[in-house]
Amino acid sequence: MPPFDVPEGDPFGPHNLPYGVFSPTGSDDRRVGVRLGDHVLDAGAAATALGSPYVSLLAQPTLGALLAAGRTAWSDVRRALTAWVTVPAHQETIKGFLHPLSSVTLHLPFEVADYVDFYASENHARNVGRIFRPDAADSLTPNWKHLPIGYHGRSGTVVVSGTDVVRPSGQRKAASDPTPVFGPSVRLDIEAEVGFVVGVPSERGRPVGLGEFREHVFGLCLLNDWSARDIQAWEYVPLGPFLGKSFATSVSAWITPLDALEEARVAAPERTHALLPYLDDTGPDAEPGGYDLRISVAVNGHVVSEPPFSTMYWTAAQQLAHMTVNGASLRTGDLYGSGTVSGPSAGERGSLLELTWNGRDVLELPDGKRTFLEDGDVVTLSAWAPGPDGVRVGLGEVGGRVVSSS
Ligand code: CA
Repeated sequence: MPPFDVPEGDPFGPHNLPYGVFSPTGSDDRRVGVRLGDHVLDAGAAATALGSPYVSLLAQPTLGALLAAGRTAWSDVRRALTAWVTVPAHQETIKGFLHPLSSVTLHLPFEVADYVDFYASENHARNVGRIFRPDAADSLTPNWKHLPIGYHGRSGTVVVSGTDVVRPSGQRKAASDPTPVFGPSVRLDIEAEVGFVVGVPSERGRPVGLGEFREHVFGLCLLNDWSARDIQAWEYVPLGPFLGKSFATSVSAWITPLDALEEARVAAPERTHALLPYLDDTGPDAEPGGYDLRISVAVNGHVVSEPPFSTMYWTAAQQLAHMTVNGASLRTGDLYGSGTVSGPSAGERGSLLELTWNGRDVLELPDGKRTFLEDGDVVTLSAWAPGPDGVRVGLGEVGGRVVSSS
């Protein structure tokens, strides 16, 4: 029997141990927490009680100190936590620092520094190309297979799972409108993505190489890039997404360390175009850059899509190399999104834009028909990955409710 009555095979068992920040409900006394089953361990209090050398990293109101501490410390702390929750001698002590998840409030676990969002799914990019550029000879733009396309977003509007999302207002102009109109978006959408969290900063002027990914990136989480398609379609030429995206980006309350995802590492899809050396991950010594994460997208509890992250063409290591190749530096707390995850089949598309083919096809849900989101809709992303001994590694879900702008 695993410790603390965590059921055998629980995706949040001692093999997982994602990090978050919680406070007992009703207070704002924020503490680093580690999820174990349906409980959260007050990691700083446990470290203090056990005389751990990692008190300074864990007895904190955010994950910042741990993120900045680097890969050796990340592994050491994880090893210590694993011992605390599995070695019988620690159980009496640890038991006193476990809080039921139902008795705590979860917070955004780190201060988001810079935020970047990529566009790394070939299936998604081709679907979008077919929808918006139906007459183009190629559904991909000429640069797509040569660099991971991305843009800088708004870090200040990254919110934790459970935060309401107010329907954004802005300009839109349908083909039939003679001039733009202003008002609440009528094409509010989601994008199912994975976010990568940078721990160790880099120096300005020094690119971060492909092989340095795991020295800098601490972990990952589910991410919902809320998107107002009507605002986006009118504003994005020629410079790309702006107000159609910047109103809210939701992330999970739990950051899964890369060390928990060893069994989920897979090779990226076959490279169809030769890559410049700084992006070339095809060599004999190249590490597998993909992650086998099985995502589910639910609207009001009804699963509408199951996007497979293993199909992403560009890897997180390539994205990190690309975003620093010009000398741009990393900061602790930088967050970058993978881009919408869409698999090859219709039930694997990570946005309503694709699932409804820009509103042409209606989704039949138990509570009614949908093309884009209505006020009151709750969107929830969840995911799991293969773990040790066939046990799943659960990723923390990310949910949010759309609320009216008025
Ligand atoms: Ca996106």
